[in-house]
Amino acid sequence: MPAKPFAAIVTVGTELVTGQRLDTNGAEIASALLVAGFAVVEMLSVADDAARLALHLKRLTDECAVVIVTGGLGPTHDDITRDAASHALRKPLLRDASIECALAGIISRHRHPDAAEQVLTQADIIEGATVIAPTTGTAPGQIIPTATGYLVLLPGPPSEMRPMLADFLNAHGSATPPVRLRSSGVSESDAQLAAQRVLGDRADVGLTVLAAPADVEVVLFDEGAGATELTRLGELVREALGDACYSSDGSSMAETVIRLARERGVRIACAESCTGGKIAAALTDVPGSSEVFLGGVVSYSNEMKVASLGVMKGSIAQHGAVSEEVARAMAIGAAGVTGSAFAVSTTGIAGPTGGTPEKPVGLVWFGIRTPSGVMCERREFFGDRDGVRTRATMYALNLLRQALLDDK
Ligand code: ATP
Ligand code: MG
Repeated sequence: MPAKPFAAIVTVGTELVTGQRLDTNGAEIASALLVAGFAVVEMLSVADDAARLALHLKRLTDECAVVIVTGGLGPTHDDITRDAASHALRKPLLRDASIECALAGIISRHRHPDAAEQVLTQADIIEGATVIAPTTGTAPGQIIPTATGYLVLLPGPPSEMRPMLADFLNAHGSATPPVRLRSSGVSESDAQLAAQRVLGDRADVGLTVLAAPADVEVVLFDEGAGATELTRLGELVREALGDACYSSDGSSMAETVIRLARERGVRIACAESCTGGKIAAALTDVPGSSEVFLGGVVSYSNEMKVASLGVMKGSIAQHGAVSEEVARAMAIGAAGVTGSAFAVSTTGIAGPTGGTPEKPVGLVWFGIRTPSGVMCERREFFGDRDGVRTRATMYALNLLRQALLDDK
């Protein structure tokens, strides 16, 4: 079995190690490396300190096949990544004439005479490096061959980093993309055991299970099995996961719901109490969702439930806002207000206060309205306020998914 090549990630910036900026690049790059077939063994953030960064780069480039660095490639005095990489690899920086030329327009915009020289440092390329041209921003990325693989320098702003990382991984990542099966309503360990039962003790397929609230992803990697065999095993794991498995290409629950609605040519809506707009936010995060998602009502108060959705006042008085009757009326109301064929509703107690023995914190009633009628479901979720709301959102989206699947 070929072992997975080691990779490391270094994010550079005093703003990262002083807590002024959150390092989002690290996690994003780590996920991309995982999918591209690398074993990420280290991830660290370093201040804008060339000597310190050079020490880390020297060690990591000795140990890892791929070292990805982000940040510190701009034109200011604190952008030290080029110098640090040059020291670590003992390779000189050479000014690239064509990049210098491309930067000419920017130089002309600066008044200070020293600014031109600063801007031009972005044209300094480490000897032997391949340049990745920027699609946004000005700093080019650099791919530098090392004794064990590559040192890759990328800019810090995520929108500049992202396309360059994709470029590098397209050329140097695993040729077989992993199978990514996402499920909701199955525990992390059940998902892992289901996959392991299919895989047995075969060593030519790697397995990772990634869990988020109400969302478990089983990832199968090619470690010698080949693409066809990986696909076949993916199908078997999908079967083992059953109905809980909502996507086999890594797409999210909301993406799946939008795709299904589009395929069926139907429109969807929601009415939210305890989820406070999270269902609508998840659906509208998906590009093109406007084709099928008509809208949602965040009816947090009883008055809003009555005024915007036509829930009967008496129904709330008799059964309480968190009840089957109100969830049902909310789903019917959302479909009525928007004119959609499908609508989902949530009403629950997210906590930490407001629970009673009959209606504990974590209790959520759901309504799902489809062309064939209205169904309601009662669930109790564990976790803090955020956990309950996130799980309820996933559950509601999953109800929409199942309703769309049943609508043949
Ligand atoms: P620039 O040309 O913009 O200076 P750069 O490569 O020098 O690019 P930095 O100066 O290190 O990058 O960072 C610029 C900005 O990019 C930061 O202020 C921050 O907003 C964002 N950024 C940098 N590193 C990260 C990171 N690890 N995670 C998320 N955002 C980051
Ligand atoms: Mg900078």
